[in-house]
Amino acid sequence: MDQIVSLCRRRGFVFPSSEIYGGLGSTYDYGHYGVLAKNNIRNRWFEAMVQERDDIVAIDSAIILHPRVWEASGHVEGFTDPLVDCRTCKLRFRADKLEDAQCGRKPSKHPGETPDCDLTEPRQFNLMFETHVGPVQDTASRAFLRPETAQGIFINLKNVLQIARRKPAVGIAQVGKSFRNEITPGNFLFRVREFEQMEMEFFVPPDEAERWYRYWIDERMGWYRRYGLRESKLRVREHSEEERSHYSRGTSDIEYDYPIGWSELEGVANRGDFDLTQHTQFSGTKLEYVGEGGERYVPCVIEPAVSIERILVAMLVDAYDEEIVAERQRTVLRLHPQIAPVKAAILPLVAKDSEMVARARALYEELRLLHMVEYDDGGAIGRRYRRQDEIGTPFAFTIDDQTLADDTITVRDRDSLAQERISLSAAADYLADALARPWQTPKPA
Ligand code: ATP
Repeated sequence: MDQIVSLCRRRGFVFPSSEIYGGLGSTYDYGHYGVLAKNNIRNRWFEAMVQERDDIVAIDSAIILHPRVWEASGHVEGFTDPLVDCRTCKLRFRADKLEDAQCGRKPSKHPGETPDCDLTEPRQFNLMFETHVGPVQDTASRAFLRPETAQGIFINLKNVLQIARRKPAVGIAQVGKSFRNEITPGNFLFRVREFEQMEMEFFVPPDEAERWYRYWIDERMGWYRRYGLRESKLRVREHSEEERSHYSRGTSDIEYDYPIGWSELEGVANRGDFDLTQHTQFSGTKLEYVGEGGERYVPCVIEPAVSIERILVAMLVDAYDEEIVAERQRTVLRLHPQIAPVKAAILPLVAKDSEMVARARALYEELRLLHMVEYDDGGAIGRRYRRQDEIGTPFAFTIDDQTLADDTITVRDRDSLAQERISLSAAADYLADALARPWQTPKPA
């Protein structure tokens, strides 16, 4: 994880937030390559969940919803984690995650393990960030930043069913920021207080719920394989009955073997009819499906939910590689080309050769209309290749002497390091084809 954090910092994927003010723990800002990688993850998710299907539509609901939403959903009452304070070191810990935390005085020990530790009894701590709407700060103006995007979907079910003229099975997908006042954020982006969730609520007839629950576990596993995560680092873990949330009729975590061990990447839950029933009760608006023949029922909901942050960390960890090439070490991110921030680098071999530079600039200006590409003429060619390897750029097009003679360029493949010559005029098609091809991971199992 340290190597990933340092690469992200060095190459401007992710910066600690508010750094010039001393930082705000476990809060991050995204730099150029981080923004590009996040956009790619979001776009690939959206393609798979909305664009490539005809049974799911999109929504973008507000972050601050009516406070009654969170009473109905159970979050005001129950969205809590057990918190313990240490009277000695004054730190706070999640009582159910003590084995993941470090003692404030002796970091090699867990809280409670040294004779000096003096932990309080656990008490429940609500993870929602509170705020106030309007100029008066009283209980009537109290509101919350959403801790999940799902509730904004449930409360819009009626609008969507009417306007989209759909019947179950039908899904509504949403991507947006969620906020949780985590007691112990950490492990880089894995647990942060502000993150971007991608959630899809799939509304189905109750007797089909189990089948769709299994379907979505398989579908989401397929998405991770499609974008190159190693099979050996992915698994599905089904929750036991005791572990499941009160509303859940079945929950499975898609886990990734992060450097901190197997941990939840994405959750897939069968939420039953809990949410729609609660919102019907609290709002007085019936959230149900009424068929043309008058049949009516409250659909069950299957939910795959994940954050871009947890996917980004998994993809970076999975892609990171160091190897010796020609007696020099290179760091390479073997990201799937459709996730990689930059798709191709365009490099004039000799930066002082004005004709090479002119050809390279012209190619760059052609390709940047189609893809995120980079032009680089700074430094020795080997150094330029290594800079691109480090940010995971899958292809490099190099313009050299031969280009000036016969209009061909070299293409260098990030993973195999193979170089081939193609015609300069074929570069755009070459890149489009390469990005559209299914991609096989060259990583060890
Ligand atoms: P955990 O047990 O790790 O706290 P959770 O079970 O509370 O997670 P859910 O409520 O199921 O998480 O949230 C759905 C998804 O949102 C998670 O699978 C994860 O991808 C993401 N997520 C939740 N909390 C965070 C966070 N603090 N930082 C980054 N991503 C998060």
